[in-house]
Amino acid sequence: MYSNKVFALAVRRFLFPSVGLLLLLSACVLLTPSPPEPTVQVVPTSDLAPSSESRNPTEVPHLPSENAPPPTAGLPVIAACNPPLPRTVANPEGPFYRPNAPERTNLVPPGMPGTRLVVFGLVLTPDCRPVPGALLDFWQTDAEGNYDNQGFQLRGRQYADETGQFRLETILPGVYPGRPPHIHVKVNPPEGAVLTTQIYFSMPAATNSDVSLHPSLVTDVRFDPDGVLQAEFNFVLHP
Ligand code: FE
Repeated sequence: MYSNKVFALAVRRFLFPSVGLLLLLSACVLLTPSPPEPTVQVVPTSDLAPSSESRNPTEVPHLPSENAPPPTAGLPVIAACNPPLPRTVANPEGPFYRPNAPERTNLVPPGMPGTRLVVFGLVLTPDCRPVPGALLDFWQTDAEGNYDNQGFQLRGRQYADETGQFRLETILPGVYPGRPPHIHVKVNPPEGAVLTTQIYFSMPAATNSDVSLHPSLVTDVRFDPDGVLQAEFNFVLHP
């Protein structure tokens, strides 16, 4: 009996307070706020420097190829052209050039008499590449062999197109003392030297007695079905 009393007393003295103390400590632990999570700064992926480890192994870095042509290689070679082409020879400018002619491809004012003539061709480099944007400045006489030295009649400038082509609508120039029919032209490429020369036509009025006439500057002429003379001439510039 005595031991039972002692046990009961021990439970009341020690066990109950201990259980209470444990319950109190547990409550404190549960009610104590947890420490804040460490702040994580989100960095945009675009700001991350790529590393060799993180790069997709199938992704090929963009590097210039050793086989790629340089950007200054120019446009494709003209078909049916055998380089190196002989360069167009220069020919005297003469005394009748006037700068700042209007930009136009048709030099013929309405009602002007004369044989209609179309001159067409290409501006090329010796390796058969077109020279787009070359400025062609033409001037010539009327059918009577007279230059307009006051205005810009039968004078005009035009640019070769993206394939190097030009097309001039005019009339067959007349003859003036000592000169066969000819058209003067300055060809000014975007880069490089200006070529000043003349175009002549293979017809009876073109004679070898003219000291300026160079055989390579004489071009064939033919009438098309509409009765318009056609002449082809290609300019080959110095690089
Ligand atoms: Fe002339």
